[in-house]
Amino acid sequence: MMTRRTLLELAALSAASPAAQAAEPPFVLPKLPYAYDALEPYIDAQTMQIHHDKHHQAYVDNLNKAISGDAALSRLSVEELLQRLDALPAAVRTAVRNQGGGHANHSLFWQTLCTSSKSGKPAGRLTAALDRSFGGQDKFEEKLQASALGVFGSGWAWLSVDSGKNLVLDSAPNQDSPLLSGKRPLLGIDVWEHAYYLKYQNRRADYLKAIVKVINWDFVTARYEDLAK
Ligand code: MN
Repeated sequence: MMTRRTLLELAALSAASPAAQAAEPPFVLPKLPYAYDALEPYIDAQTMQIHHDKHHQAYVDNLNKAISGDAALSRLSVEELLQRLDALPAAVRTAVRNQGGGHANHSLFWQTLCTSSKSGKPAGRLTAALDRSFGGQDKFEEKLQASALGVFGSGWAWLSVDSGKNLVLDSAPNQDSPLLSGKRPLLGIDVWEHAYYLKYQNRRADYLKAIVKVINWDFVTARYEDLAK
């Protein structure tokens, strides 16, 4: 029989872990950090609204559905789930990879964009790292667009920091996060058609020329300082 003390301890544990309470789903859609039309004319307001409110929300909802019954998994961040994907129960692995990847990728994506007048330039150590790895910002943006253009079907182009603190530019299918391969994502370009089809239809190259005008270089620079230290 449970002592009163054990019950109190259990209650305290439960209170300390809101994720374990059925009413509170472990993951929530982050607010867009600007208005839907902030990226006009490069990315249109309707695309932003549907992309954030519908597509990203669906990744969050589906991730919650997949893991909210598991108290231990519900306590982990989405980044922690992705970093230890191979150690997760087989039954949730695909959902974490796809829905968790979608949630993590889009949560970063919104933050790496901003209105074009505030886009700015890479600064500090990131400037030097882009010079070293790609020959400067312009060359980097050319390579980023080429990588994104080369994705067959749905996926992302990624600038990441690897375990040796080097910049890596590559691409990945679907919602596969760089976290799956031990890297930390710095900047990702979403080339799922839902990211551009309303305004650009099949013209992915035009979308890519536009999106580099609304990169939030202050945010990316600060994130690099954090990841590379
Ligand atoms: Mn997307």
